[in-house]
Amino acid sequence: MPDKWQQYLRQQAELGGSEIYLAEAAPAEDAPARPPVGPSAVDWQKGAPPIPGPGLTIDLPAPDLLGDGLGTLETLDAIAARVAACTACGLAQGRKHTVPGEGDPAARLMLVGEGPGANEDATGRPFVGAAGTLLTQILGSIGIPRESVFIANVVKCRPPQNRKPLPDEAAACLPYLRRQVQLVRPNVILALGATAAEALLGGRQTLGQMRGAVHSYGGVPLVVTYHPAALLRNPNWKKPTWDDVRIARQLLDR
Ligand code: SF4
Repeated sequence: MPDKWQQYLRQQAELGGSEIYLAEAAPAEDAPARPPVGPSAVDWQKGAPPIPGPGLTIDLPAPDLLGDGLGTLETLDAIAARVAACTACGLAQGRKHTVPGEGDPAARLMLVGEGPGANEDATGRPFVGAAGTLLTQILGSIGIPRESVFIANVVKCRPPQNRKPLPDEAAACLPYLRRQVQLVRPNVILALGATAAEALLGGRQTLGQMRGAVHSYGGVPLVVTYHPAALLRNPNWKKPTWDDVRIARQLLDR
């Protein structure tokens, strides 16, 4: 069995999927080629939860009301350039690089995390390191290549000691994210972790309350799940995360 499919099936088991991993001796060098085995369209659907009912509705300001002329920016690169020069909150002082986000500018799925960590600050890229690797694996398990999504964060500069962004920092940075949503116009948003979900949905509910509903963010269906870094700390959250991403995956097919 090719290594990548062994990895896939192990990953399904880790995420609580119903796939069964069977150890198999490596085929002999001269064995006839076998048809490829791997994730098909139905693999992630097996045991997937139904799409839950509606949750909160958040309206986005019209582009001309975003402030600071952000509504006149027509490309993600233009937003990134504006972010690179931004000193609107105290996080500007400690950053090595801004991390505006990256991915397909016409992505159907947009992911939103909390903010850059040390690796992201060093590289200027979102979700690198162990949490980023896990995120890439999670996306792969629902048949979505990482390069096909757009990944952004609530704050574009690293909070010191990886602390949670302060409310005024999140508020100062949120217009960039709102404009990114307006330009990408994704079909689904996946909020990763409580901080992202609170910033997007207004902080009126706990993570547990925000999960299990399909919210509306500027008319875009929004699903809340755990942050990949939290999954590394607590594997018990892998199964609920697997359910959440399969809900998001189903919404993409609607
Ligand atoms: S976190 Fe956002 S608002 Fe604060 S300085 Fe960086 S880009 Fe500007």
